[in-house]
Amino acid sequence: MPINIAMDGPVGAGKSTIADCVARSLGILHLDTGAMYRAVGVTALKRGIDPADREKVTEMCRNISLDVSYESDGQHTFVDGEDVTGILRTEEASMAASKVATYPGVRAEMVEAQQRMAKSHDMLVDGRDIGTRVLADAPVKIFLTASPEVRARRRFLQLQEKGIHEDYEKVLDDLIKRDKQDMSRETDPLKKAEDAVEVDTSEMTFQESVDEILRIIREAFSGV
Ligand code: C5P
Repeated sequence: MPINIAMDGPVGAGKSTIADCVARSLGILHLDTGAMYRAVGVTALKRGIDPADREKVTEMCRNISLDVSYESDGQHTFVDGEDVTGILRTEEASMAASKVATYPGVRAEMVEAQQRMAKSHDMLVDGRDIGTRVLADAPVKIFLTASPEVRARRRFLQLQEKGIHEDYEKVLDDLIKRDKQDMSRETDPLKKAEDAVEVDTSEMTFQESVDEILRIIREAFSGV
């Protein structure tokens, strides 16, 4: 049986970067499921499909082939063989992802693909519904969070580093909107699984967050 670790949390809690580092320390893969929803969102935009059009997006999602591969610089995400990794991180892609992620038909496709990958690899999987749905039986579940202002600040700086200039106020506003959309959707909304350990990183440095999560994981596996 592969080792599976579930990590969930709201926008900008640092899941992706922290999960990358934790997975590397453990020598396992990190599956960023947000990239998969982003890939569906940007593909809709590229094809002129309104992300708000549930039927068209769901049909498109059933007809594309979505794959991930692991390169030296991390996960790459492909739609019908085309590497879309480089266009997944804009605010437009974020909002499109959050919209298409509300559709049950889209979620069903993503969940199935994610479960298939986790069945055959040791993986840390990060997202919104990992502990509650995708890996409901995972032996370790982490719920990573931080205050909205801290998360918006980190996201703002992250975008700046990538040369993407957005107003801090807009980043905070989008983040609150996206949180609301993620937590209030009917199918698998973002919520802490009952058996997840909550880690609030508001007052922690990156390295402190990584160390704390590694400690929780090692402790959980020490009794196995
Ligand atoms: O994690 P990231 O911010 O890249 O995810 C983009 C969007 O994809 C989220 O706002 C959320 O709506 C959706 N998502 C989801 N379930 C997941 C991962 C991401 O609904 N497991």
